[in-house]
Amino acid sequence: MFTSGSASRSGAELVTALRARLPTAPLTRFAPAPTGPLHLGHVVNALYVWGLAGALGGRVLLRIEDHDRQRARAENERMILDDLDWLGFSADLYPSSAYRNGPCDGRQSERNQVYLGALAPLIAAGLVYGCQCSRASQAAADPLFQPPSTNPAERRYAGTCRDRGIVPGDGVGWRLRLNPGSEVFDDALLGRQEQDPSLQCGDLLLRDRLGNWTYQCVAAIDDAVQGVTLVVRGHDLLSSTGRQLRLARIAGRATAPEFVHHPLVMKSATQKLSKSDGDSGIRDLRSAGWSAGRVIGCAAALAGLTQASDPLTVQELPKLFGQQAGLE
Ligand SMILES: [Zn+2]
Repeated sequence: MFTSGSASRSGAELVTALRARLPTAPLTRFAPAPTGPLHLGHVVNALYVWGLAGALGGRVLLRIEDHDRQRARAENERMILDDLDWLGFSADLYPSSAYRNGPCDGRQSERNQVYLGALAPLIAAGLVYGCQCSRASQAAADPLFQPPSTNPAERRYAGTCRDRGIVPGDGVGWRLRLNPGSEVFDDALLGRQEQDPSLQCGDLLLRDRLGNWTYQCVAAIDDAVQGVTLVVRGHDLLSSTGRQLRLARIAGRATAPEFVHHPLVMKSATQKLSKSDGDSGIRDLRSAGWSAGRVIGCAAALAGLTQASDPLTVQELPKLFGQQAGLE
């Protein structure tokens, strides 16, 4: 397996940079989509999330991103919770037990009213319109399109329905008007970034024609509403940041969160690990006799955070970021 993306700072430098920017102990989040079981790529993200939270004296929120009702499965959520418990990743807000007990505010499928409430002022202001375009009909030849380097497959929405007066309701997509303009932010690992979402994705899809909220919409709203101040995620989501900053600001978020986009563990130089890659599935490794410590140690080595894949516990993760375990 390979690592993609570059970490220009050591773990300790990353913590120093974040400490300087975060006025109080941060709230960060681990937010898996229950579209498959956990794999080593998730564990790399989890060790950054829990490691940084520990090093910064912060807390972790567990969010289940089951906004896509066609792809999310309850049995996948149960497997993810089981794997997190087995690995020892325990959340401060919405821990696995909160999900096992039934309804839980961390589960996106139960937050429809939250999203409608957050978007109501935008809809009232005419910033959201209905779109009847199918994915296939969206312009392939678009002279304005700037494909993000981290997401070359992306297509920019050309604005076909912008002035058609379609009310955002059932059976149509909901799009947010995005005026031209750059979003500038400092990734704590990668440095200054500048993205113009109007040139990357065009008017942002918030909800699809089937009524599913999009990842971009609910990630930005949940981060704002839940008070997440530190977003730690993989390099593949770097191009999402400008549009999420824009949406959050339009929806009233006064202070943007800090961002860390960390390197990804890859199956090959061009292929991301996926949930179907059995060789990296956590429950497959567990069945093959791996200990939790060995899985975490292996993920830390793959992420380039350690030289050798010695076993590691969750409690030891802050030391990967320059902190003595247990001192925070
Ligand atoms: Zn359209």
